[in-house]
Amino acid sequence: MTATIESPTSTGPATPTFDSLNPANGDVVGTHPIASKADVDAAVARAREAADWWGNLTFKERAEFLLTWRSVMTRRIAQLADISHLETGKPHSDAQLEIIMAIDHITWAAKHAEKVLGPHKVKSGLLMANQASTVEYKQLGVIGVIGPWNYPVFTPMGSIAYALAAGNTVVFKPSEYTPGVGQWLADTMTEVVHGRAVLQVVTGLGETGNALCTADVDKLAFTGSGPTGKKVMAACATNLTPVIIEAGGKDSLIVDEDADLAKAAEAALWGGMSNAGQTCIGTERVYVHEKVFDSFMTEILDQAKDLRAGADPDAKIGPITMPSQLKIIKSHLDDAVAKGAHVALGGPDAVGERFVQPTILTHVPEDSTEITNETFGPTLAINPVKNMDEAVKLTNATAYGLAGAVFSKKQGMEVARRVRSGMTSINSVIAFAGVPSLPFGGVGQSGFGRIHGPDGLKEFTYAKAITRQKFKPLMMLTSFTRDAKTDNKALTMITMMHGGKKTLK
Ligand code: NAD
Repeated sequence: MTATIESPTSTGPATPTFDSLNPANGDVVGTHPIASKADVDAAVARAREAADWWGNLTFKERAEFLLTWRSVMTRRIAQLADISHLETGKPHSDAQLEIIMAIDHITWAAKHAEKVLGPHKVKSGLLMANQASTVEYKQLGVIGVIGPWNYPVFTPMGSIAYALAAGNTVVFKPSEYTPGVGQWLADTMTEVVHGRAVLQVVTGLGETGNALCTADVDKLAFTGSGPTGKKVMAACATNLTPVIIEAGGKDSLIVDEDADLAKAAEAALWGGMSNAGQTCIGTERVYVHEKVFDSFMTEILDQAKDLRAGADPDAKIGPITMPSQLKIIKSHLDDAVAKGAHVALGGPDAVGERFVQPTILTHVPEDSTEITNETFGPTLAINPVKNMDEAVKLTNATAYGLAGAVFSKKQGMEVARRVRSGMTSINSVIAFAGVPSLPFGGVGQSGFGRIHGPDGLKEFTYAKAITRQKFKPLMMLTSFTRDAKTDNKALTMITMMHGGKKTLK
């Protein structure tokens, strides 16, 4: 990604632009405008106008449009996967897999929005027995979405599809590393809704993202690094704009003594190395029961022997998308080795100019940055633990809390519940991301708010409570005509209802 200012043309002033580059070879993939504050404000104004139309459609009508969009995406999947492959460097088949998962989410959001958000009757209780009570979830209006580059379709779609299905319009600022993907998504949706500004894209760098945070949006959904998340939150605070922060992680995969070691090794390898390790919910740490540690290491090293990073079609690992990350990966490996970690595969020298070869370290000191900070490269830190208590304790000894995995035959559920994170998969890795009805999000430095599932739909709405009086109240409580007799009646009733000694059954 490089920013340039084009020379003025006879038709107007210079338009600042930037290039998106192929991280495998540095080739220019596309040139995109840098949207100014005025451009972003204009896009938000158009989105607000379109929200009048989109927000007033029925859930079914919106679902029709969203399902058409999903079908367009499915039919043109190769085209979108091509752009993603060129802009991120990830293998074409990985780009396709990410889109497949996104398609499933759009479908789920479109089909479930009415059931989750539409009017629901709730019980009114004895005191208000004369009222019929309902709750429904109304769209907020215009949602700003700021996305990262690592899963440029799947990740922002967790906000975009759910916000649209709930009745909002969206202005999307994709990462400067993947603007072409963002543009493709907005163009195809615009085609489906006959040119209306239901999903627009504003391309640019951090400043464009900042302009979206301070624009007239009703909520901002951010996915990216924690440090940027803090800036986003501070900028959104100026207008009291609510935010969702989906930030980084340092997820662990826990292997119990009774685990299927071949499956656990396969999962750790894929969880840690796929997408060149550039996965927020990727496996970065592995804690293995000491009784099976040696067997696990033999297994994972055997499975890793043909794995390599490269630009050719046979390489299963692509380049590091963001060149500045190479230094961070190298520094984590250097720190771990300097503090006494053992190199089982690869090592600090595996970090090249564009690619990082698979690296596995063992006995990594818990205070090294390879354990404490998000590495975002194809590296695994694998440490033995005495038992599952220690595995949980070390897993939770992090400021992050995004996801993780547990491999165990007997105690999977118990261990999963004790891990302080938003999502855990048992005997598989990352499975929860492919289940559209499950919420997705973290705790601690991994952020807050939820995308996906019913929680993800509600995230882009506000709850609207309505009571309708069905008949005259037995006691008129909400009036200045209320007298001492009514007060006594209310007191007698509440004492009968709640004054007795009750034990919870
Ligand atoms: P990043 O924080 O560098 O950038 C994310 C987005 O924020 C980009 O679009 C960028 O242009 C924009 N931005 C930069 N400065 C801004 C500012 N001042 N105001 C507003 N927007 C600004 O993150 P990245 O490198 O694109 O993505 C990688 C990070 O994202 C990793 O930490 C990864 O773990 C995280 N991530 C989290 C999830 C999740 O769901 N929790 C998913 C994918 C990625």
